[in-house]
Amino acid sequence: MWKRQKTGSVICPACGNLVGVRDKNCFHCGRWNPSIWGFGPAVRFFAEDFSFSQIVLWGCSILYIATLAVGIGNTPPQSGFSFFSPSNKVLFLFGSSGAAPVFVYGRWWTVLSAAWLHGNLIHILFNMMWVRQLVPATAELFGQSRLVILYTVSSITGFLLTSFAGAFLGFLPIPFLRGASFTVGASAPIFGLLGALVYYGRRVGSSFLGRQAWTFAVILFLFGLFLPFVDNYAHLGGFLGGYAASEWLGPERPERLNHHLLALICVAATFLSIAVSVVLGLKQFASG
Ligand SMILES: [Zn+2]
Repeated sequence: MWKRQKTGSVICPACGNLVGVRDKNCFHCGRWNPSIWGFGPAVRFFAEDFSFSQIVLWGCSILYIATLAVGIGNTPPQSGFSFFSPSNKVLFLFGSSGAAPVFVYGRWWTVLSAAWLHGNLIHILFNMMWVRQLVPATAELFGQSRLVILYTVSSITGFLLTSFAGAFLGFLPIPFLRGASFTVGASAPIFGLLGALVYYGRRVGSSFLGRQAWTFAVILFLFGLFLPFVDNYAHLGGFLGGYAASEWLGPERPERLNHHLLALICVAATFLSIAVSVVLGLKQFASG
């Protein structure tokens, strides 16, 4: 299936019409290189075949176990919310985000990696429970690839907002308005998916679904305001990013190959953000 198509016609990734494999631009919509050098069918095959919720569940679990196993500065298992917590140092190594990594250490790519890391057992269990509910639901409405784009974009907007708030609003008197110095967790993209479902409910017409997603988002957000360790800016930024991205993606139109392509780039960029975090983090640790 990874063969390059050299003859005949392919479906344009942007408009869905048939174009020749060798055409420089789509005859209908003008998209440059509509066959993706003949690799379009391979991209489609790959993108339609993978399950993102499995990737999130496995990825987050493996990374959580890894952050516990590395154990630099880890505390022994305690009770409650600090049960099985990797240390801040280990989380930094693997790519935690927030004002300190982004603005002090210049690790801007952590807006991607942080969504795959978790601070303790309850944190990851709670988030994975939401992932299991929301990822398949969003994939059903938006398509698998647009789900991946929504997940990635809302991770970026969530961690950007909290990093900016952490860097510039630290003087505010109320702790939950200050943003985060260090932050991890899948809740930014989880709020992004809630934002996407709210948008879908308003735009495509399932008002029940939209209302339900809105209710969940409001309850979860208010819940977060009363817990000292919850990153409210990441939630807010994730929700807004998911809402805006779904407007841009337009769920009322079918998924196109362009979305598959962008989704693969999102997954690759996320993987890279974790790899780069670890490699550069180890160097930083080695040099003291
Ligand atoms: Zn086209």
